[in-house]
Amino acid sequence: MSDERIVGKVFLVGAGPGDSGLVTRRGAYLIEQADVIIYDRLVGSDILDLAADSTELINVGKTPGKSSISQSNINNLLIDEAKKGKTVVRLKGGDPFVFGRGAEEAAALSEQGIHFEVVSGVTSAIAGPGSAGIPVTDRGKASYFTVVTASESPGKTDSDINWDAIAKGNETVIVLMGSKNIDEISKVLIEGGRDPSTPAAIVESATMANQREIFGMLANIGELAALSRISAPCVLVIGEVVESAKKLQVRTNFPLIGKKILVTRSRDQASKLSLALRDLGATVVELPTIAIGPIDDYTDLDAAIGNLSDYEWVIFSSVNAVNAFYSRLIQKGLDSRHFAEVKIGAIGPATCHALGLKGIAPDFIPPRAVSDSLISNFPHPRSDVQKILLPSPKVAPETIKLGLGKLGWSVHRVEAYRTVIPKESVKKAELILNEGLDMVTFTSSSTVTNLDAMIESGIPPDVYIACIGPVTAKTACDKGMKPDIIAEEHTINGLVSAITFFYSS
Ligand code: SAH
Repeated sequence: MSDERIVGKVFLVGAGPGDSGLVTRRGAYLIEQADVIIYDRLVGSDILDLAADSTELINVGKTPGKSSISQSNINNLLIDEAKKGKTVVRLKGGDPFVFGRGAEEAAALSEQGIHFEVVSGVTSAIAGPGSAGIPVTDRGKASYFTVVTASESPGKTDSDINWDAIAKGNETVIVLMGSKNIDEISKVLIEGGRDPSTPAAIVESATMANQREIFGMLANIGELAALSRISAPCVLVIGEVVESAKKLQVRTNFPLIGKKILVTRSRDQASKLSLALRDLGATVVELPTIAIGPIDDYTDLDAAIGNLSDYEWVIFSSVNAVNAFYSRLIQKGLDSRHFAEVKIGAIGPATCHALGLKGIAPDFIPPRAVSDSLISNFPHPRSDVQKILLPSPKVAPETIKLGLGKLGWSVHRVEAYRTVIPKESVKKAELILNEGLDMVTFTSSSTVTNLDAMIESGIPPDVYIACIGPVTAKTACDKGMKPDIIAEEHTINGLVSAITFFYSS
């Protein structure tokens, strides 16, 4: 982007309350395109993961208790980067114009004649209560709401905030930046005239894996907060609407709520598992351990493609095998008609689906999505010269080759693709493990082998390990891990069911 402009542009982007799913599409697009991202403390690391490897990331977060970069220095940084012609994303928690000092930054940019754009975000003031099932308005209970900051002590005599007026109203009161002053705020509101029995709640780390909620009333919410050691970031909500949440029981419907689960699949395959886990309430962290790369020498694969009619069967054991084989086929100017003379076998529904996208319905699908099921159900050859082609990665277990060989087939395993460890993941692996996880998922032996190679210290003992099937679990054991879950049905759905069952039993 930077090449197109002489003077850059600054985007004041809201990152939402924490969950990476709550960034707007425009926000995500700009994060992907940015030359430099200047971000705050409350912006989650998985949101920054959207940035390209070449993007410069600058943390200007104000960590409590530590000296931090001043607002005027942040303004100057934005101006300097824009003047270099860069696309600058100024990424702020929630919405950039809700207590984010976004207005000051916008004014500073405007003064210097620098183009900027405001990209609204989902504010914690509304999404925080919402994630605990608390509606900020509710017909009959509250027709309006006040969002107020408690960064200053409410007892301060020269405060800009008219706490007395807030106390006398009957609206929902939403307090941000109040983690240290909850007791004081509630006292000020009671003294000002709010009923001490008004329902109140605190939502801590809303929309994140470690979200907690505390329900009480104005009279005791301060005490409850202290007992539970509530800390920032948290939202305090006061008003009759808090009662609605108890009836809704939003969060009890999600069996994986509060669980932080690592997905190790390749980036283009991760989404199905990630979405399913997220739908059940988990916070998902993606760390692709596999990327598919081209092979060094195509001689054997090209020969196999050229002589495809010599084979009785082609067996695809993974989506990667289908895609790699096909991309070579297409490069050679061929298409699905090239398979006319040969029968096709496929292991697992995802592999069948990948073939289906190419217009191919497999002739043989084993009842279970594992090599053993293929071997024990596969037809016997009519003669020992009948050949099977097995497009594979360079390093793959010999199970299918040996098993079908015993049946009398002549199995030709041809290298069709290479699995590599993505470089950008290596940098992140230790960090993710140290940030704390509840579970690691493995969907193939390579995900195990690669993650193991990426981390020096191993998976911490309190992190559960979930494997898609026995082969993956065996690889995990070989690497000194102890799988807690081995899915009975060796598919993504099967793995998700097993994880849900594990946590609910
Ligand atoms: N611009 C932000 C607010 C910045 S002020 C927004 O629109 O959300 C920072 C305060 O926001 C925190 O002290 C806390 O009160 C609140 N906050 C931000 N993220 C939060 C979260 N995930 N859970 C609870 N409160 C949060």
